[in-house]
Amino acid sequence: MQSALIAPGQPQRSAASRYYQISMSYDDPYFKLRPPSPTPDDELCQCMGDTPVKLMCALSYNPIHCIVCNLEVPPETLGFDTTLVEAIAVWRRIYEALDRLWLDSGEYEAWATSELGDITSPVNKRGRDVAAQVNARRRCYYWLFQDQSIPHFEAIGECPSCRQTFKTFDGGIFRQDICEECSIITVGE
Ligand SMILES: [Zn+2]
Ligand SMILES: [Zn+2]
Repeated sequence: MQSALIAPGQPQRSAASRYYQISMSYDDPYFKLRPPSPTPDDELCQCMGDTPVKLMCALSYNPIHCIVCNLEVPPETLGFDTTLVEAIAVWRRIYEALDRLWLDSGEYEAWATSELGDITSPVNKRGRDVAAQVNARRRCYYWLFQDQSIPHFEAIGECPSCRQTFKTFDGGIFRQDICEECSIITVGE
């Protein structure tokens, strides 16, 4: 992937900028070998009411994000049981492994891109199942990966699961497309 071409709102961007800020503020040349710091309060959702959420791995421990402000929703506000917490964490680790292979832009990039972008791949099937369990607590969508780093990126216009045209959600900090029936959300144009 070519990071310079990533559009605003792409999840990888916030984590990267956060690490950059921490490294600059602490002036620590070893920061990439340190344990991650907790998500700062100003990167947690402060929206009023029970805004819908999305299951979206953004290289942070908590993959539950608000679809309005895009920030992390503290999991304790959603009332998960330990079984669901475990399922979310297991999925996140698998997704993150693929995400890092994609970010590495090396020999595994093409394969990782294919796995992340295919709604029928094992990682996405598992993620949708986890999102459906979260949905029982709060309206939850599953974030579908699209490789925005490619030149002349064009967002897919239809849900890859049911083939219906996506509905636009303009209530967020960037345009997102949604399939209500399949509970899928992705970047729009
Ligand atoms: Zn929010
Ligand atoms: Zn659909």
